[in-house]
Amino acid sequence: MLNETKIRIDTRSRMIMIKKRTCSIKACNMEAVRSLALDRVEQTGLKVDGEKRAHLCKQHYKEYKKRTKKDRKIERLKWGI
Ligand SMILES: [Zn+2]
Repeated sequence: MLNETKIRIDTRSRMIMIKKRTCSIKACNMEAVRSLALDRVEQTGLKVDGEKRAHLCKQHYKEYKKRTKKDRKIERLKWGI
């Protein structure tokens, strides 16, 4: 009986972990809304914690989009397009 209870608790906590992902940005604990390739996020200069995927909250996703837009502009200037 005791074992059964323990297993049930474990499954529940794991489900919560999957459901509620927090932002991968260091020092941010907001709920993640987007999942992106880690290296793409790192390219923008954001400090992310993770392995393959970076999970971003609403605010940091906005920041990420802002930065990628800026990068594109710089590249365009560089190439003179
Ligand atoms: Zn965040």
